[in-house]
Amino acid sequence: MPLEVRGLRCGVTTRTGHPCQRRDLGAGGRCRLHGGRSTGPRTPEGLRRVAANLPGPRPHGTDRV
Ligand SMILES: [Zn+2]
Repeated sequence: MPLEVRGLRCGVTTRTGHPCQRRDLGAGGRCRLHGGRSTGPRTPEGLRRVAANLPGPRPHGTDRV
């Protein structure tokens, strides 16, 4: 949890008309339920980190034992 959202609440107006009381806020200042899904890495460093986990180009015939 980012330090700047400590002590804050999500605050999204729910279907019942009351503000969301959850405190497990993420970087967007909303809780896990209301923050939406991650859209993936944005920084060049993050993109590189993700790309490192992908299977790289593999020449034909090298994937057999
Ligand atoms: Zn919420």
